[in-house]
Amino acid sequence: MARPRIVIVGAGFAGFAAARKLAKLSHGSADIVVINPTDYFLYLPLLPEVATGLLEPRRVTVPLAAALPGVRVVLGSVEAFDLDGRTVTLRDPEGAHRTIGYHRLVIAVGSVNKLLPVPGVVEHAHGFRGISEALYLRDHLTRQIEMAGNAADEPERQARCTFVVVGAGYTGTEVAAQGVLYTDDLVRARPVGHGRPRWLLLDTAERVLPSLDHRLAEAADAVLRERGVEVLLKTSVQEATADGVRLSGGEFVPTRSLIWCVGVRPDPVVEGLGLATEHGRVVVDEFLNVPGRPEVYAIGDAAAVPDLTRPGEITGMTAQHAVRHGAVAAGNIAASYGYGRRRAYRHHDLGFVVDLGGLDSAANPLRLPLRGLPAKVVARGYHLLSMPGNRVRVAGDWLLDSLLGRQGVQLGLIRGDAVPLDSGKPFSQP
Ligand SMILES: Cc1cc2nc3c(=O)[nH]c(=O)nc-3n(C[C@H](O)[C@H](O)[C@H](O)COP(=O)(O)OP(=O)(O)OC[C@H]3O[C@@H](n4cnc5c(N)ncnc54)[C@H](O)[C@@H]3O)c2cc1C
Repeated sequence: MARPRIVIVGAGFAGFAAARKLAKLSHGSADIVVINPTDYFLYLPLLPEVATGLLEPRRVTVPLAAALPGVRVVLGSVEAFDLDGRTVTLRDPEGAHRTIGYHRLVIAVGSVNKLLPVPGVVEHAHGFRGISEALYLRDHLTRQIEMAGNAADEPERQARCTFVVVGAGYTGTEVAAQGVLYTDDLVRARPVGHGRPRWLLLDTAERVLPSLDHRLAEAADAVLRERGVEVLLKTSVQEATADGVRLSGGEFVPTRSLIWCVGVRPDPVVEGLGLATEHGRVVVDEFLNVPGRPEVYAIGDAAAVPDLTRPGEITGMTAQHAVRHGAVAAGNIAASYGYGRRRAYRHHDLGFVVDLGGLDSAANPLRLPLRGLPAKVVARGYHLLSMPGNRVRVAGDWLLDSLLGRQGVQLGLIRGDAVPLDSGKPFSQP
């Protein structure tokens, strides 16, 4: 290898930020390689808008080749790491294997759907972690309402018009809040008999958005209830079947729609690394370096990064941290070659935005609690600024949606068995 080769595995928030900064710092003096299963960076926070027909799926994808000049993008999933031999082996989209050597390695493989040992859930629930799941959900919601209009009897109609979201973190809360607006829109054009579609949002916690500021939770809870979403707290699923779900209190809810948003776990590929982990995430020091492996870095959801602002804790699994991990790791890699000085990762939470659809959101930028329209403006502004591309296209979709409404059609491109909940099985393709 003539130039130093830096291999980044994963082009999500963390890997993308690391690659972009390394390309800027190195000015072509290093061979920067990004390995990712898709040729795009996926802006996950706007997936609920894809699932509810506000955004076209391509809007949340940013092409890696165009957005990362000076970086070599290799399509594939890394299946094996040889840390002693300093190589990674990937499988490309056509199934061929290829081994690539490195001088520095950045592990940025992110996370997958979290599973819980509840009977029937893996078979009957769908997760919400990727673009195919969002597209599947959009089709599924539309199909259920369309089929409810021609249901054989009232129990079938009701089951098709009932949607159960499990997990009231930011993903589940956004999916339920935006989903109810979508199905209300659908039934306006396709009457399904009396009553509105029924949405339930369950969580074992005592409030929605349990990991966020309570003022955000109160604002979101009020919007959900105003929209008729049944928020069931301290409640979980005991069993899922093809016909419905049994709740922890014993009640059986007939439904064809179980949307699993209970959170994420680190990509299981990290388990095979033989490195120390904490909560399944690779242990690193404050410089994002794997102890005992000075040439290996881990960042983003896959890494247990010490949170120097909250001693004893590790940084949360958020895009806010992942992007900053990427930039700091890039600087520290440059420093390992004598350019600049390495620095410890330290970031104070800047707040969070939860887009509830319509004109409602909840946000706490710099700890200032906002709700309603001001929060909506902050949420949309934040997303536009955070996206590394497609800003005009996204803003264009929002404008068209406010003028023309959304198109409620199913394309039928994604089959249910193509989006299994257990997306973290090793060696799975996207
Ligand atoms: C629906 C949703 C909404 C969210 N909203 C917010 C929000 O509003 N604000 C916020 O701060 N956070 C939000 N998050 C969390 C945030 O998206 C994650 O914390 C962030 O994506 C973590 O970045 P990452 O780079 O570690 O992982 P990811 O962004 O998941 O990227 C990992 C990349 O690695 C690739 N990869 C995986 N395995 C391999 C392999 N073996 N070989 C090669 N490549 C591999 C993946 O395909 C992916 O491209 C949201 C998450 C979801 C699911």
